[in-house]
Amino acid sequence: MEWREIPEPRIAADGQAIVRPLAVARCDIDRALVSGVIPQRGPFALGHECVGEITGLGDGVRGFEIGDRVVVSFQLCCGRCASCAAGHTANCDAYPVLSDYGMQPLSGVEYGGMLSDRILVPFANPMLQPLPAGVDSRAAASCSDNVLDGYRAVAPHLRARPGGDVLIVSHGIPSIPLYAAQAALALGAARVDFASDDAESLALAEKLGAHAIRSDFEKAPRTYPIVVDAGLRPEALDFALRSTEPEGTCQSVSVYFGSVPMPLLRLYTYGIRFLIGRCNAAALLPEVLALIGNGGLRPGEITTRVVDWEDAPAAWAEPAIKLVVTRG
Ligand SMILES: [Zn+2]
Ligand SMILES: [Zn+2]
Repeated sequence: MEWREIPEPRIAADGQAIVRPLAVARCDIDRALVSGVIPQRGPFALGHECVGEITGLGDGVRGFEIGDRVVVSFQLCCGRCASCAAGHTANCDAYPVLSDYGMQPLSGVEYGGMLSDRILVPFANPMLQPLPAGVDSRAAASCSDNVLDGYRAVAPHLRARPGGDVLIVSHGIPSIPLYAAQAALALGAARVDFASDDAESLALAEKLGAHAIRSDFEKAPRTYPIVVDAGLRPEALDFALRSTEPEGTCQSVSVYFGSVPMPLLRLYTYGIRFLIGRCNAAALLPEVLALIGNGGLRPGEITTRVVDWEDAPAAWAEPAIKLVVTRG
């Protein structure tokens, strides 16, 4: 990882914006992106979670001024196609699948990375959301992606089952399960249990108000109406499904490569719903930032390391639950 000079992005059409990232958070997938686990296609720009300030605005952008602090959706979307209108902004009709900042190895297209002095936002109105007054840029930097992912893992299910108990099964993606635990507590879950074999994650979950359960993912001690599967290991997914009660919901925010066995007879027999899919970032941003603005969600409590801008290349591959790079 190193800094490189590239041409400065410029406004080329109405509705665009230029944003100067101020605080960039590392997504849970980013260490995998730079470790060589995912095949690389040459140099690519890094970073897809940030709070930045608007430094350029095209004609036709309403509701923003130069200098506004904003959260930028990590997914590119147009805001006006049928998919965007339905709230399915992760699958915007105007872009190829997986069109995200900082993830050229996945999509094959370079949209720029947020570890930059400037990024081009092609559709400002759907992709930018103002940072609520009084919220620190560093605290909200992961709201482009991982905070939203944790929130949507529990929010619709707690809406359907108000006050339901929630189990978070955390097995290899560091921050999203903790954002899910915090969101479940904020949204009124009676009890939030956090199962993991990682001591640092368990300690942080306790600090947030969840009940830590040290688990090797073998025996499921009880069942829950809402279970979140967040990680990399198929045996932990099996534990999550065995921990879901009849007519309950198991929501997965995991990325599994290849085929994974599923106990479909159990799911069928007990009417257990299993859901998996990417979050719709732009569609989720307004409600999540409203919750942060009124103090209901405090994602800054999950940040474990903050480094200066110049130190990003050295720090980016090092372990941390949530790394934030800041201009200070
Ligand atoms: Zn991400
Ligand atoms: Zn669209």
